[in-house]
Amino acid sequence: MPVQAVDPESLKEAGRLLKAGQLVVFPTETVYGLGANALDPAAVQRIFDAKGRPADNPLIVHVASIEAAKKLVSSWPPLADRFARAFWPGPLTLVLPRAPHVPDAVTAGLDSVAIRVPAHPVAQAVLRACGVPIAAPSANTSGRPSPTTAQHAESDFGDKVSLYLDGGPATVGVESTVVSVLGPDPVLLRLGAISREILEKMVPKWGKADGTGPALSPGTKHRHYAPQAKVRLVPAAQMATEWRQKGGDPKIAFIVSAETAAAGMAGRNVGIPGTRSDAEAWAHELFALLRKFDRKTEILVEPISEKGLGAAVMERLRKAAQS
Ligand code: AMP
Ligand code: MG
Repeated sequence: MPVQAVDPESLKEAGRLLKAGQLVVFPTETVYGLGANALDPAAVQRIFDAKGRPADNPLIVHVASIEAAKKLVSSWPPLADRFARAFWPGPLTLVLPRAPHVPDAVTAGLDSVAIRVPAHPVAQAVLRACGVPIAAPSANTSGRPSPTTAQHAESDFGDKVSLYLDGGPATVGVESTVVSVLGPDPVLLRLGAISREILEKMVPKWGKADGTGPALSPGTKHRHYAPQAKVRLVPAAQMATEWRQKGGDPKIAFIVSAETAAAGMAGRNVGIPGTRSDAEAWAHELFALLRKFDRKTEILVEPISEKGLGAAVMERLRKAAQS
């Protein structure tokens, strides 16, 4: 069976497969990753092929420590040091000047490389088992909702992947925050698991991600996070009307706050991640619910407050609703 529980045997196998250039799916604290040896261009190409990922979308390289990160960069700016010490291991990705031996396949030909040190014990164990940096985007077919379980990943890739390590549901449920430290001020390239508020508390002055500064995150322009069903954002005040009209239709699903659901919304086609202010719960449940309702014709989703993690949740929802 390609989906395996995490134990010393499966970890050893993951290390062997990665060193041999194969693909391994493993849990991180953000979402499940589709990993390959970052220093092996043919292995990295397998990631792009399996995902159908556009070649201009560079990958995040995962390493076990700050020391390992320094081996992949041509310089280690003071800002990198501050962020790494504060947030690694953890869900912050830093875009840094790339060392020459980092393959073009990983960076999509850019002069920079995105690196993070994951906190998840299984991700750390996999890194130790293979001893090489692991390039790992989210383990979903490009454009689909990110996977928060090994089963989500398996349903996208089947036997294209040699091994799926099942470490239970991902902790956070949205991807890492991506910050460029290439210039004098940091630039927030992608909202994610570490909120803007927390980052701005540490460094008050930020550059703009308006395309005039250092490289925008190329990946943010692509279609993302979308189930097959059409996703539509419906304000809480209108949800009761929608429910009256469509609540009985088995092809329509609803993702609403506990407060909105309390007005009588219940059933198999209603997903309730948590209360309106519980952005952590929404982050944790959102992708799983989008996948659960994949085959519906429409999913109506209540927007939540954009405070803290809520900003990353809403950014994912708007992208899912775009397509
Ligand atoms: P994913 O791993 O699919 O969640 O996406 C990784 C994100 O990091 C994408 O938005 C990429 O465009 C971004 N990224 C990776 N490497 C770089 C880089 N060198 N410069 C800017 N953004 C990057
Ligand atoms: Mg992704």
